[in-house]
Amino acid sequence: MYTRRAILWFRQDLRLHDNEALSEALDSADEIIPVYVFDERVFRGKTHFFGFPKTGKFRARFIIESIHDLRESLRARGSDLIVRVGKPEEVIFELAKEVRSSWVFCNRERTREEERVQDALERNLWTIGQEMRYDRGKLLYYTSDLPFPIQHTPDTFAQFRKEVERYVPVRQPLPTPEKLPPITVRLEAGDIPNMHDLRQETFEPDPRAVIAFRGGETEALQRLHHYVWETGLAAQDKEGRESLIGSDYSTKFSPWLAQGCLSPKQIFHELKRYELEIGPKDSTYWIFYELMRRDFFRFMAKKHGNRIFLRGGLNGETDSEWANDWESLQSWIEGATGVPFIDANMRELHHTGFLSNRGRQNVACFLVHDLKINWQMGAEYFESLLIDYDVASNWGNWNSIAGVGSDSRDNRCFNILSQAYRYDPKGDYVKRWLPELGDLPPGQIHEPHITYH
Ligand SMILES: Cc1cc2nc3c(=O)[nH]c(=O)nc-3n(C[C@H](O)[C@H](O)[C@H](O)COP(=O)(O)OP(=O)(O)OC[C@H]3O[C@@H](n4cnc5c(N)ncnc54)[C@H](O)[C@@H]3O)c2cc1C
Repeated sequence: MYTRRAILWFRQDLRLHDNEALSEALDSADEIIPVYVFDERVFRGKTHFFGFPKTGKFRARFIIESIHDLRESLRARGSDLIVRVGKPEEVIFELAKEVRSSWVFCNRERTREEERVQDALERNLWTIGQEMRYDRGKLLYYTSDLPFPIQHTPDTFAQFRKEVERYVPVRQPLPTPEKLPPITVRLEAGDIPNMHDLRQETFEPDPRAVIAFRGGETEALQRLHHYVWETGLAAQDKEGRESLIGSDYSTKFSPWLAQGCLSPKQIFHELKRYELEIGPKDSTYWIFYELMRRDFFRFMAKKHGNRIFLRGGLNGETDSEWANDWESLQSWIEGATGVPFIDANMRELHHTGFLSNRGRQNVACFLVHDLKINWQMGAEYFESLLIDYDVASNWGNWNSIAGVGSDSRDNRCFNILSQAYRYDPKGDYVKRWLPELGDLPPGQIHEPHITYH
């Protein structure tokens, strides 16, 4: 009998629950060959404009861990994960020829570099009579469920939310398959590269990190369970959410969401189940609200394309004072600007790859409005460092803070000192990351009037 074979290309959807590409591949083919390619350009390359390492060590390690977890889950279900290092458009093309598949299934990406890769693979597949089959896996909402075409997506988050949240249901997540068809062709499974293979620096996690992030769907689902059911943190009041220290002040779902180890629909429906027990709460709504914002930035990237990366952003308004000022940038990166609240945040980012949303907003504002640095430099440094880097969320938030986003009201500049006193009143956060200020009383910690770096 003729075996209809499909390659399932895992990208930023490193999970088995709610994975549309997996589900469609299972519906169409007799046999599926799951593949992950460590794209050498992503792990060893540089960022587009300013040449930072494209993927910093925190994210690299998180992805490696996620791939180990994915392989274990696939093996436990009778399948495997074929792992390679190279260019996906070449590696998968070669595999497709070798295993004589009919299709390559993948969850579609919508931003520049990712599209280039999937388009090149698709063109290669056409030459051998095979097809790409695209699915969706990133968001709460499906484009086809929205009450407007993408080109008419409202340009403000407030309007987007108004038009979507009440009228568009969030679909149920797809189930996790219990068993998978075995791979019958002879193929080397391939070793999962380590940090050294990817030319990444190995490191010990900083004990001050908000959480010991570990990549993979298993950890992601555990964190979700912990946050919602074990601790009831999903129901915590606003005050608990305003801290800057520790694992509990926010969900910390972002690295798993960014690599697709966790589905936003899964989070949504888990929260809805929880609400059935405890009743609707502002706090559970707040998580949903943030996930909608994540969708919004993705829809903006879809609507406006590459403009999210440009200096003039979506509205074309650039500030002529913004400079490619490497010296000031370096002091920002090193946490040596002389403003303790900014420096503490930048050191947390440097040592852990993570930063609270409050911290991100403040350091970005400071770079744009106080240091007058070209915001693209900050965005690319974040791209390099963040453990939870997500193209649309990162560039979309930077667009907003620089005032070049779709919503002209976004161009708000924080008063850093009043933010510092409000969110770190006793200076605990600053002391955690700037131990050299440890002896100062709370009244002086944010304005030390001394040189400390
Ligand atoms: C300059 C700047 C750059 C950013 N870059 C990224 C990035 O690369 N990747 C990323 O995931 N988030 C980014 N954010 C958004 C936000 O800071 C993080 O998502 C959040 O801090 C992650 O922590 P959490 O998972 O505990 O979030 P929670 O507050 O618990 O929110 C739940 C989820 O909602 C989403 N979310 C929350 N806030 C935002 C937001 N402002 N924009 C988009 N999605 C949001 C995230 O997926 C998050 O995991 C950026 C924000 C700023 C100001």
